[in-house]
Amino acid sequence: MSADIIDGKAFAATIRGKVADHVKALHDEHGLVPGLAVVLVGEDPASQVYVRNKGKQTEEAGMASFEHRLPAETSEEDLLALIARLNAAPAVHGILVQLPLPDHIDEAKVINAIDVAKDVDGFHISNVGLLATGQKALVPCTPLGCLMLLRDRLGALSGLDAVVVGRSNIVGKPMAHLLLRDSCTVTVAHSRTRDLAQVCRRADILVAAVGRPEMIPGDWIKPGATVIDVGINRIPAPERGEGKTRLVGDVHFESAAQVAGAITPVPGGVGPMTIACLLANTVTACCRAHGLVEPEGLTA
Ligand code: NDP
Repeated sequence: MSADIIDGKAFAATIRGKVADHVKALHDEHGLVPGLAVVLVGEDPASQVYVRNKGKQTEEAGMASFEHRLPAETSEEDLLALIARLNAAPAVHGILVQLPLPDHIDEAKVINAIDVAKDVDGFHISNVGLLATGQKALVPCTPLGCLMLLRDRLGALSGLDAVVVGRSNIVGKPMAHLLLRDSCTVTVAHSRTRDLAQVCRRADILVAAVGRPEMIPGDWIKPGATVIDVGINRIPAPERGEGKTRLVGDVHFESAAQVAGAITPVPGGVGPMTIACLLANTVTACCRAHGLVEPEGLTA
């Protein structure tokens, strides 16, 4: 068997197109422009690239982008004061604080200072609780993207066996809650799980969010399963030249693609969905703030 390759890049473009359509309608019908504020503290090069991409894609979708770049030595007090200003700003519907923050700043305190209704990363403790109790929440972008890919591929997920490998707060746990909400039978595996191979083999849906290059081989996968590989790992690629590297997922793609029904590649699978879902969450937050109908197909 040879798996279908799930084209996350193309699907993310479709989501961004839906976002742009909705943004246009909000503007034309209600005079509204959804706004996303991104806060970056420090000069971490990877974070700078993420923030630039987020700003670019926000504007391409017709939304307002507000970037706040602060020096690494910014105090927690000053950062909290900025968050308070953004919470109060009517033009800002979504606030994202790029993580990680410098060590002298309490990350949880900052995230929980964001207005729950503007927490488009879905990391605020109240959004975590709302998701866990099956209420209307803003949902973390990466697991939301995985859910959209799964629904697009499989339709209804009800009754399927889903295994999530990884229990982080940003991917594994919210993913498990979303799958549970769609009536999957969910198992969450982690570093202490016994016989991980056997656990994975019962999955109709396997989501890998571990951060270990190619650790899940094809013979851990149930024939026909849908495999969502969240992992992004950079490994040496001497075959491409001295000092060269390449990106791989947590799943061994070549062997898994022989067994799975469908699989996301790395890169080009889950990765592009994250920013698309950030834009979707910003539109959702804007609609909720103004008591308007939420965009269909852009929420959990
Ligand atoms: P974390 O490091 O926070 O969590 C990793 C999880 O994997 C932990 O729950 C850990 O278990 C588990 N784990 C580690 N080793 C094993 C093992 N040998 N067997 C089973 N489980 C194991 O990572 P994140 O959730 O933040 O990220 C996971 C991956 O996803 C990374 O590669 C990251 O780069 C990528 N990622 C991609 C995104 C995107 O596509 N946009 C966004 C976010 C993340 P335990 O809890 O027991 O320690």
